[in-house]
Amino acid sequence: MITLKGAEVSARIKEQVAEDLKKLDGKIPALAIVRVGEKPDDMSYERGAKKKMDSFGLQAESFVFPEDISDEDFKAAFQKICQDEKITGILLLKPLPEQISEKDIDRMIDPKKDLDGISPENIAKVFAGDPTGFAPCTAEAVIEVLKAYDIPIAGKRAAVVGRSMIVGKPLSMLLLKENATVTVCHTRTADLKGTCKNAELLIAAAGKAKMLDEGYVGEGAVVIDVGINVDEDGKLCGDVDFQSIQERASMATPVPGGVGAVTTAVLAKHLVRAALQQAE
Ligand code: NAD
Repeated sequence: MITLKGAEVSARIKEQVAEDLKKLDGKIPALAIVRVGEKPDDMSYERGAKKKMDSFGLQAESFVFPEDISDEDFKAAFQKICQDEKITGILLLKPLPEQISEKDIDRMIDPKKDLDGISPENIAKVFAGDPTGFAPCTAEAVIEVLKAYDIPIAGKRAAVVGRSMIVGKPLSMLLLKENATVTVCHTRTADLKGTCKNAELLIAAAGKAKMLDEGYVGEGAVVIDVGINVDEDGKLCGDVDFQSIQERASMATPVPGGVGAVTTAVLAKHLVRAALQQAE
């Protein structure tokens, strides 16, 4: 089995970003990372995103708010960030605490700065196959991995395990746009094993540590693991039991070192695209 390495895909995206940056006449796009509270997962993603922006020659600044901030105060602060002309793009770390209406925030974000595709306008564009919008970075990262490794998508049977608005659903639409035949699986899927095993492209985005073992993987399938979980030993792992699928899959992404590294590269790509679109 071939291991699909996120770092290689990220390096490819970096070259493209460097080309696009040249078109900005020296202007360096700025990312605002908005975080409420001190969740370790959010902070680790924030660190990774900042490191990536830095290595791609882009700016990033964190805007951090206390976990108990009121809905009203957060909305006022978020509005300011959206309207700040120095900020090119925004990454909002989710989920937000209960007292804040996430739906309202999704509607408030300026679609032109919405790098992770949470606004209704960008979601609609992803579903319409309109490339001028921003798809959620993780969903797009999966497509980037497949394309970087020249893995054919058109005409292939793809199974996506997970139907969240940030990964499963938008990814299904992106795969459909690439002419795959897509099956979306979820907790109520009757024959998950059979559906996964029948897929030529299997994408795991369920958030369940090592739930997909060799029994779920068809002979020669390409497996992309979006999951980020912690196993019983406290180690980072995906939704796929990477060791057990070695003899069945033809290619697979590891965790860590797979899709995660590509997600922040896509964020950088979106940031530069936002700057170019805003300059038009
Ligand atoms: P989520 O909890 O919102 O959605 C999970 C989906 O999986 C749901 O639609 C659910 O129906 C489905 N599911 C859960 N258990 C299942 C089961 N046993 N059988 C079939 N379907 C099942 O999660 P999410 O935000 O979409 O994230 C999914 C995973 O991807 C998580 O591990 C998350 O940490 C990871 N993630 C990774 C990145 C990255 O950059 N690599 C980014 C975002 C999320």
